[in-house]
Amino acid sequence: MDKVCIIGAGIIGMLTAKLLAEQGVEVHLIEQGYAGKESSWAGGGIISPLYPWRYDDSISVLAQWGQAQYPQLLAQLNEKTGIDPEYQQSGLLYLSIEEELSKAQAWMNEFSYSFEALYGEQLSKTEKELNNQFQQGWLTKSIGQVRNPRLVKSMQKLMLISENIHLHEQTRVTELIVEKQQVKGVKTESTNGQSQSFYADRVIVAGGAWTAKLLDNYQSVPRIAPVKGQMIVFKAPENLIQHIVLSKGRYLIPRKDGRIVLGSTLEFNQFDKTIDDDTLEELRLEAIRIVPELANYEVEKQWAGLRPGSIDGIPYVGEHPELKHLYLNAGHFRNGIVIGYASCELLKNMLLEQECILDPRPYALTANRLLASSEEVKLEGAY
Ligand SMILES: Cc1cc2nc3c(=O)[nH]c(=O)nc-3n(C[C@H](O)[C@H](O)[C@H](O)COP(=O)(O)OP(=O)(O)OC[C@H]3O[C@@H](n4cnc5c(N)ncnc54)[C@H](O)[C@@H]3O)c2cc1C
Repeated sequence: MDKVCIIGAGIIGMLTAKLLAEQGVEVHLIEQGYAGKESSWAGGGIISPLYPWRYDDSISVLAQWGQAQYPQLLAQLNEKTGIDPEYQQSGLLYLSIEEELSKAQAWMNEFSYSFEALYGEQLSKTEKELNNQFQQGWLTKSIGQVRNPRLVKSMQKLMLISENIHLHEQTRVTELIVEKQQVKGVKTESTNGQSQSFYADRVIVAGGAWTAKLLDNYQSVPRIAPVKGQMIVFKAPENLIQHIVLSKGRYLIPRKDGRIVLGSTLEFNQFDKTIDDDTLEELRLEAIRIVPELANYEVEKQWAGLRPGSIDGIPYVGEHPELKHLYLNAGHFRNGIVIGYASCELLKNMLLEQECILDPRPYALTANRLLASSEEVKLEGAY
């Protein structure tokens, strides 16, 4: 296999491109907007699922592989591009999980994570500005985070300086070139109106929330739909909080410069990224509920991104059942940063016929995970 076309330059498309290019494959990476500017830019960058014990083990094994490899990847990115993705091992402090504690504990034991219980004074010493209504917390020290805008900027630069990668921004894939049920390439249209065809040995769809749209002319469509997430960031002083703090689905992420990100909403099935004042206020109050001192700091920015939601949070990684030489790497939902690295490595293994880093079967495009194109892809209340 000499040449691939990748549709979509989010974190998934860019990491896939990196891994294949390193093996000597020529990659055309095609992005309708600018590389990394969709979900991958908008996310919180926590290198862990929020409540990992709620997911299938097939997510946990991807996450664990990624967690082990990320520090090295991020150091390499910093060195090669001069853009630091600001990896920090801040640890994740769980609050309000009393009702699912035994499940959480069992999962932590099974996957060998430390999970330290903190009570009363221990808790308030560990996180000084925490609302004193919290009397119990559980800390997983090994969890890290990355600053998404810096991560994707660094990846974009890597795409531009890598020998075997050709990044085509502002270029939308309008259709697949298919002959006798075999994909041969893609047709594109750029923002200046120019149309072009790219031919390749394999085509990979890494189209994030848009993946099902891209394939809806064909019989089997992955159940991937957009799930909007709104976030805010406080301009706070350095070290106001030390850890990623999670309570009732809301998380606070302390960045190196003191800013604190608070996320996020789950709004199903819309392709709009509008933000609204009611949500801003709701998120602000949630942040203050966890850390009252945040009432004294301004919300600097609010934004939204579209997660590539899949029904069970399990990404689709593998060959399309009807269209030969078409592969998917999409549907990473809330966890694309943490699980994406392993899914890209796995796809590379498949394409280059290498031994797979883990069992690929849970991520395959099996009939039960696909819809007929006449059905509308909709997600409701998944996670
Ligand atoms: C608010 C929020 C918080 C999150 N927090 C976390 C977190 O803390 N940890 C974590 O692990 N994950 C988190 N995520 C999830 C994570 O960001 C996503 O799972 C991940 O970014 C998905 O990457 P992707 O490359 O598949 O999608 P995207 O980044 O959306 O990239 C897909 C790309 O495909 C392009 N594209 C689509 N169709 C076409 C076409 N026809 N032609 C050309 N290009 C096309 C799009 O323009 C886009 O750039 C969060 C997401 C959100 C929104």
